[in-house]
Amino acid sequence: MSGISKILIANRGEIALRVLRACKELGIATVAVHSTADADAMHVRLADESVCIGPPPSRESYLNIHQIVAACEITGADAVHPGYGFLSENAKFADILDAHGITFIGPTAEHIRLMGDKITAKQTAMELGIPVVPGSDGEVTEDNLMATAHRIGFPVLIKATAGGGGRGMKVAKTEGELEEAFNTARSEAAAAFGNPAVYMEKYLGKPRHIEIQVLGDGEGNAIHLGERDCSLQRRHQKVWEEANSPALNVEQRMRIGQICADAMKKMKYRGAGTVEFLYENGEFYFIEMNTRLQVEHPITEAITGIDLVHEQIRIASGAGLSVTQDEVTFSGHAIECRINAEDPRTFVPSPGTITHFHAPGGLGVRVDSGAYQGYKIPPYYDSLIGKLIVHGRTRVECMMRLRRVLDEFVIDGIKTTLPLFQDLIANQDIANGDYDIHWLEDYLARTSA
Ligand code: ADP
Repeated sequence: MSGISKILIANRGEIALRVLRACKELGIATVAVHSTADADAMHVRLADESVCIGPPPSRESYLNIHQIVAACEITGADAVHPGYGFLSENAKFADILDAHGITFIGPTAEHIRLMGDKITAKQTAMELGIPVVPGSDGEVTEDNLMATAHRIGFPVLIKATAGGGGRGMKVAKTEGELEEAFNTARSEAAAAFGNPAVYMEKYLGKPRHIEIQVLGDGEGNAIHLGERDCSLQRRHQKVWEEANSPALNVEQRMRIGQICADAMKKMKYRGAGTVEFLYENGEFYFIEMNTRLQVEHPITEAITGIDLVHEQIRIASGAGLSVTQDEVTFSGHAIECRINAEDPRTFVPSPGTITHFHAPGGLGVRVDSGAYQGYKIPPYYDSLIGKLIVHGRTRVECMMRLRRVLDEFVIDGIKTTLPLFQDLIANQDIANGDYDIHWLEDYLARTSA
């Protein structure tokens, strides 16, 4: 592919390996970067070259822009893939790479900034014709707090403008709770993000989380690749994702997908992105846009057959999208289980050495993981050690296959969340696809000893 000949992968774990695999398929040379804690990692072993960029703490390694740019210069990498997390939505990083003549495989710094601030993102979404949650016009203050809540109607949710990870978010069910929710949200936001600004939204009681995958070429051409249902969450962390959503029919899918693709055309969005919605009573409500590849992207790949990392690299090299909207077809059903090195009940992290590792196989099975027998999971990073993705022609076939595959998967020496999925696959609500964003926490509370 013209334009890009060597990619530095500014990430670790399963996503670094995922990106590396795409590079190899495209015949592009790879550079891995790693902290001292990750010297033995699979992505480091498989990359053409590797550079140690610092000690274990992320701030001094995977978030160290200076070291990463230096690694590009030493190795002659002409592009950087940021993966997800770390620097993937850092506009300053995109600017600095640009100033060094290195291609950032992602959207423009301007679009990262636009979507990074929640109020601006929501206003932009509205202007682009994307439906949003009814709420305040920008920031709420002491002065307009009560009037805004009455206009929207209780219950309301106070949210941090700079929000992320569900922090700085408080529900007020009644007028009496409003003042306290406002004050708590502000102080949490100030502590977590250094910015106390908050806004207000109507609180939705039992929504699903449904997100649309988009791809844009940066020139005004854009498509959607359908939706993912990520309603099964614990503390705002996704646990199990499905494509398609059990809640949508074809017309609903194509309608919301087209709205998002049209919005991306208007803004001339470049690269892969995800428009996240809450969905309740047949209505979609925009909550945010992620301007990067998502953890759960493989389920979209499974049902469309499109390699999203190939597309990202194509787009960054100026070759545009490999498919038109009409050429995108959706086939069957896919489910992803996030396998964390955690106790399956208490979710306490469980780093340590994997003494035995056997990944399942067979038709419709994909395991994205950097783990292997003898691998020592370092305690410094998030606990995702792998993703199990299963595809079937129907949701029923997919679930049957998942049950078989979960029985086959062996990870010994540490605790993992695999047993949780064995419980979920046996549950009737899950079998029926009948769940919302509160279901998993309610289930865990109900079934804990
Ligand atoms: P963050 O960036 O902190 O993750 P989001 O806006 O993405 O914040 O919201 C995180 C989660 O909070 C959502 O997935 C949903 O579970 C819940 N949430 C957000 N907005 C609302 C709302 N208006 N009503 C009900 N729940 C909401």
